[in-house]
Amino acid sequence: MKSVVGDGVIYMDDNISNATIESEINYCALHPQRDTELRCNRCDRYMCVDCAVRTPVGYTCRQCVRGHEDKFFEGTLVDYGLAAAVCAVGGALLPFVMMLFGGFLILGFIVAPAIGGAAAQIALQLTGRRRGRYSGYVAAGGVLAGGIASALLLVGGLGLFTLLFLALATSAAYARFKVSI
Ligand SMILES: [Zn+2]
Ligand SMILES: [Zn+2]
Repeated sequence: MKSVVGDGVIYMDDNISNATIESEINYCALHPQRDTELRCNRCDRYMCVDCAVRTPVGYTCRQCVRGHEDKFFEGTLVDYGLAAAVCAVGGALLPFVMMLFGGFLILGFIVAPAIGGAAAQIALQLTGRRRGRYSGYVAAGGVLAGGIASALLLVGGLGLFTLLFLALATSAAYARFKVSI
């Protein structure tokens, strides 16, 4: 605070600095007609209230939020793809293993969930234990699709037991993704 009242020079300086602050108006990077004081906490550009997105760490512009989500989405898409592929292989193995067992269908009740669970386990390990929101469904779908395709190729059709065991394997794979480790 300037304590010397009546000192014209200092007083004028104060007025000038105030004036410069007031005249420094910032505009939204996307809406040049809107003035704003908000800045993105990531890219530092000015943004209006329409462009600002409230995040736990402050206000972020929509572009940065979208970029962030794109990256996240990309990562899980790869994870989904891996999970689906591994589980499809597991599912495809099932009719083959059942064929090897021949008449011992009772073994399917043990083997089917084991194969489904193992496939999901491998998928989890390959994806660094990252679970997307739909990982369980993707894993289950993979087992089911792989199993049906394999059954059609090997046996030429879907028997009641094949379907039953596939359902067991599918739910085991799904459950493995749902359990939080
Ligand atoms: Zn930004
Ligand atoms: Zn804007």
